[in-house]
Amino acid sequence: MTELVEPPAPAGAVAPRWCDRCGESVAAGPHLACAEARALEPPRWCGHCRRRMKVQVVPTGWSAVCVEHGEIRG
Ligand SMILES: [Zn+2]
Ligand SMILES: [Zn+2]
Repeated sequence: MTELVEPPAPAGAVAPRWCDRCGESVAAGPHLACAEARALEPPRWCGHCRRRMKVQVVPTGWSAVCVEHGEIRG
């Protein structure tokens, strides 16, 4: 008898629940203005836990750190 075990989803495959610019729920609607702004600006909120991100400007652009989910760069 074979047991079916669901493989854990890879971390990158989990869709963010929170808009990383305005901090509102992604499910609440399309964040078109946010997406546009995010092409130029670093994120302000972690999309996974809605913590405030620690943003630093670096020579290549920016670096945003969530204490829980680590760093993203842009
Ligand atoms: Zn938004
Ligand atoms: Zn986070």
